[in-house]
Parts: sequence; structure tokens; C-alpha cells
Amino acid sequence: MDTQLTFSTEQSRWQAVVDNNQQADGHFFYAVKTTGIFCRPSCPSRLPHQDNIEFFNSSSAAMEAGYRPCKKCQPLSLSADEHNHEKVITACRLIESSDEPISLADLAAKVNLSPHYFHRLFKRIVGITPKQYGAGHTSKCFRDHLEDGQSVTEAIYAAGYSSSSRAYDNENDRLAMTPTTYKNGGRGTTITYGFAECFLGWIVVAATSRGVCSVEIGESPEKLAAVLRQRFPRAILQESDDNFVDLLGRVVKSIEEPGTINDIPIDIKGSAFQQQVWRMLRRLKPGETASYSEIAARLGKPRAGRAVANACSANPVAVIIPCHRVIAKDGSLSGYRWEAWRKRLLLEREEKKNR
Ligand SMILES: [Zn+2]
Repeated sequence: MDTQLTFSTEQSRWQAVVDNNQQADGHFFYAVKTTGIFCRPSCPSRLPHQDNIEFFNSSSAAMEAGYRPCKKCQPLSLSADEHNHEKVITACRLIESSDEPISLADLAAKVNLSPHYFHRLFKRIVGITPKQYGAGHTSKCFRDHLEDGQSVTEAIYAAGYSSSSRAYDNENDRLAMTPTTYKNGGRGTTITYGFAECFLGWIVVAATSRGVCSVEIGESPEKLAAVLRQRFPRAILQESDDNFVDLLGRVVKSIEEPGTINDIPIDIKGSAFQQQVWRMLRRLKPGETASYSEIAARLGKPRAGRAVANACSANPVAVIIPCHRVIAKDGSLSGYRWEAWRKRLLLEREEKKNR
């Protein structure tokens, strides 16, 4: 491929920065050593001296090297490409959660795209048309492609934001998990849930007969109940009975007294890669932290730092899988699905325990 188009050389990258070339956005980021800030190639800020800049392939790599995102060009906000993926994921979710087929026009309208453009985009990303996706969602043949009926949205997440249609046939990304309640939004499965308060706020714990399938943290039981309904639209959700008190108590204790309880059964679903990441995270002891790229390296995929970050943000069971113990390379906390202040509190508490 033409290096001018892929921006793979230092020289073409520098030229793109000089030109504020928008087409280079997403291909790489540049960081300025003297200010500690990193930018998209198209950033309108003053041109730095060439000797002072460093190039990165991803924003997470720039963050891990200790750079902060520029306020002007906001290199962490979604690129056009990532926006498109979000839209397709939204459409997949709509198809999955609807009992009736949704027309192309309705789907396109829901994600603010023209039907024609949406159809092409969907096909490019998922590999099949929205109609085929809807029809195939329940068919045997489609399920065979996605072992155990894992949804395409999960496959897209599993593959990160790259060539998701390959998620089906790439051996490394084989989706070989046991069937669980996540299939079809938990259709027909009874999920019991209960609320409790802990030092992070309210939590909801939800479980199938096999184990905990969701732990969410939030401001109020009402909001958490809404999160649950959205996640398991087809499950029979049943508020907890006496049998649940014990499990609920043990989850709270595992949050409040890190390291005391390590045998809570879980029933969650993820791609093979996500499961590998989650297993690795469960080996991190309270008070121990690792960077995204360290976890990737331990999994033998040193370049998969970004995919590790995605797996962390897809963690279905807060704290039980301690994704809060994964931090940026420079020691800063970086993001947390349940808000950064909770991550800080958790880590402070674990550090204190270890002293
Ligand atoms: Zn900038």
C-alpha cells in the first residue's frame, strides 16, 4: 500500500502533521516531548519542533508512555470509524432484542444514517446484511458460526475495533465458551438479583443457578435495575429471596475486604480472548497492579494492550474480576467503567490492607 496513504513512515507522518491532514487521523498520534501532550495529526495547535515529537500507533500507547490527551483535538474521542462501529453495534442490539423483524429504514433511522449507507456499512463490518443477521440470529446455521450462540456484538467487541467480520474464522479469536444466559439476552433464564450498599455506592448482584452473571455499581437501586433489564431483556428477572442473602453478603464482603473471598461462582460470557484476560486479572492480588500492556505481554500478545483495555471495559462482574487493578503504564489510573473515583477508592483500600 502507498505509504502516503497509510502514514507508516516517519516522514509521511511528519508531513501529515505539518499539513494538519485529517485523513491521517486514526492512523497514528503524535506526542510532544516538551509539553507531555499528544494529538491527532489534524490538531490545529502550533506546530511543534520536529525533534520534539514522537509517534504512536494508538492513543492508548501514547497514554501508556505517559502523555496526556490534548484538549483541542481530543484524541480520545471516537474517530469516524469507531463511531461507525458503535452504530453497527447499536443496530445489532436492536435486532437481537426485538421479537419482530425491524425494517432497514427503521434501523437506519435509529442510528441516524441513510438506509443505503447503513446497509453497506453493516455488511462491511458484520459480514452479512442486517436482514440476514436478523434471520440468522436464531437459526442453527448462524449459531454454528458463532459457537454457542454468542452474539455478533460480542464478537465485534472481542475483535476490538478491527475487521470484526473476521472474528468468525480467525483461530485465535474462536468463541469457544460454554452456553450461558447471555445468549439471546437471557431468554427463558431466571436471573435472581439483589441490591446492597457498600463503600462504592449501591451495587446490584445478579445470578443464574450457575453463578453470578452481573455485578454493577451505581447511584441508586432504580438505576441499577434499569441496567439489568437492558442487559438481560429476555430473562425472567426476579428480586432476591432469602437464599440470595448469603451470596449478596459474600459479594459485598469481597468488595469491602479485598482478598478475603475468592470462591464466588461466576457465570459469564465472553470471547476466548476476553476470558483469557479476565482469568489473568483474577490472578492479580489485592494491592497488586499491572498495566494494560503488561497483561497483554503475559498473555503472549505484547501488542494487544488496546484489546486488553477493551476486555477490561467489558467486564460484567465489577470487582469480582478486578479490572480496577489494571492501570496505565505511567501509574495513572486511566479509565474505569464504574467511574475513576471508585477505582481510586478500591486501590487505596487494597494498598492500606497490604501495609
Ligand atoms: Zn491537539
